[in-house]
Amino acid sequence: MGDARGSAARPAERPFPRIEYYWGVTNRGWGARGRRPGAPRRDSASTGPVTGERGGGDHTALADELRRLDGGRYGQYRGLTGRWRFPGHVLEVARVQADPYAPPSRLAVVVPAEVAELPEDLWRTPVRARALAGYLVRQVGRLLPEHGFRLDVGGQEVLDRSSCRVEDGRVVLRLGMDLPGRGRVIDGRAAERMLCRELPAAVAEGLRWAALDQGEARAFVDSVEDTDALRRALPELGLVAFVADGAVLPRRSGVDDRPLPGGGVPFASPESLRVEVELPHRGRVTGMGVPEGVSLVVGGGFHGKSTLLRALEKGVYDHVPGDGRELVVSLPDTVKIRAEDGRRVTRVDVSPFVAHLPTGADTTDFSTDNASGSTSQAASIVEAVEAGARVLLVDEDTAATNLMIRDARMQALVAKDREPLTPFVDLVRPLHRQHGVSTVLVVGGSGDYLDVADRVVMMDAYRPVEVTERAREVAATPTGRHVESAGFGSPRRRVPDPDSVEAESGGRVRVRARGRDALTLGETDVDLRAVEQVVDPSQVTGIGLAILRCVRAGHLDGTATLAEVLDRLDADLGADGVSVLAERTLDDFVVPRRHEVAAALNRLRTLRVRKLV
Ligand code: ADP
Ligand code: MG
Repeated sequence: MGDARGSAARPAERPFPRIEYYWGVTNRGWGARGRRPGAPRRDSASTGPVTGERGGGDHTALADELRRLDGGRYGQYRGLTGRWRFPGHVLEVARVQADPYAPPSRLAVVVPAEVAELPEDLWRTPVRARALAGYLVRQVGRLLPEHGFRLDVGGQEVLDRSSCRVEDGRVVLRLGMDLPGRGRVIDGRAAERMLCRELPAAVAEGLRWAALDQGEARAFVDSVEDTDALRRALPELGLVAFVADGAVLPRRSGVDDRPLPGGGVPFASPESLRVEVELPHRGRVTGMGVPEGVSLVVGGGFHGKSTLLRALEKGVYDHVPGDGRELVVSLPDTVKIRAEDGRRVTRVDVSPFVAHLPTGADTTDFSTDNASGSTSQAASIVEAVEAGARVLLVDEDTAATNLMIRDARMQALVAKDREPLTPFVDLVRPLHRQHGVSTVLVVGGSGDYLDVADRVVMMDAYRPVEVTERAREVAATPTGRHVESAGFGSPRRRVPDPDSVEAESGGRVRVRARGRDALTLGETDVDLRAVEQVVDPSQVTGIGLAILRCVRAGHLDGTATLAEVLDRLDADLGADGVSVLAERTLDDFVVPRRHEVAAALNRLRTLRVRKLV
């Protein structure tokens, strides 16, 4: 029978349930085993044999095999590929690394619903299932020994992650493992300890309702559902974002996204912007609503402006309980904009911002391999609108000054026909009026924005104060500045060329994340450092997989505009994007937003655009 810890953890009196073998890897990925909600259950026989499977059997057979392999050549580990039945779960060894220095081997663990016994109300909806999986994976992550296992638990956000899924009550865990060796010799004893004792113990403790802290699990799921409900409530309230009273916005550091110890000054909404929302679990909450239109965040340096904006950036994601930003939300189509000199721009219509260039180039069809600060930001704004952004977030700290403003004196000195740039200050209102795109701007330095703001919030020692009235009074005194633009117009839309997007290298799909900073797609690297809403390396992999999907599923077909490609992708990923993207990979990933997929395509140096429409 099972090892002591494994069997002790499982309910003693119940007969051990039969485990369905409906799942298994294909030669490319984890396969489309996860049912989409409402889809017919896949018949266990239809999956077919696992490609390259050699091993498989009872867990005692696995233990015997590992003891037998001890001291053997490392390559003999390959024989483990296959499925192994344990008391309480099935272990699938999907890919075995060739040597100890290769990327980790890949495992999956399936705990059937009868063993996990997770209450149905905790996984019935996609949001709750994602939250529950987010809770479970963090539990297993805590229980697994640090060394040797590679479980993608994520950070402060609760994302749609391939590493843990709750599907119809069963739990599927996917993880990496460094199969232990002494040099190139198999350490079978260590492997046995890891696969037959440590992993089963973590699974038994972390993935079964009976063993969990049930109150904590429920609170986690309910909290995420509240966040989601709050975000969904925004449009009806005419808001683009909401920051709850008591929220903790400051983080530990620029590289540590956990809350500042002690929390700093808790958020307190100004009365004039206070909004009350009824949530399914917490009930009534109050906080600052950020209405549609143009909102400014002003205030002295070091008073918490950027911290507030960063919280709004991350407000497109749900946060773990205790993060402090559980009730800080923004609309799902909120996009952070910044200057990014050096980036690639491919045939973007930047004419709203750039009327004419000294070179005489057509600014409705603008390309460069090395954009300046201002043109990069102009292109990013047009691209964001093209991809369907409803809200833009801009921080003066990371914006190009000459794109943001040109004051009266500069207007007087440099005639308009010598200055190709129309500053954002003259486009931010047309953007809302013509395209329904709201903007939240952090400006500590430029008073010209007071002319165009629907409301102004001043951060004063980390406390927001509404100063719209005062700002109107100040703005009533003319500066002599004149408006430079009549409107944003309708920028030309781009039809990307599918042949220019290549995810293969030497005949093999290559999608790899270099941290949060870069995506390797085929033979090209895409620089994502300026794509600030990428919060997790697994999102980068997900972006690559989504691009691959766009090519392979024909979403990117040479006739669809980029926006149409993204619409097709969204429809394709639907409520269960993980199973769609999992077809091509054994690696960990997170289902990305369309905006980050667009951002990566836009920065792809091989991208070609077939035509503009
Ligand atoms: P600004 O953009 O106005 O110059 P920042 O947002 O960069 O200011 O904040 C300045 C510093 O204050 C940062 O170190 C930040 O972590 C800290 N901070 C921000 N908000 C709070 C708060 N509510 N309580 C305590 N410290 C905060
Ligand atoms: Mg700042």
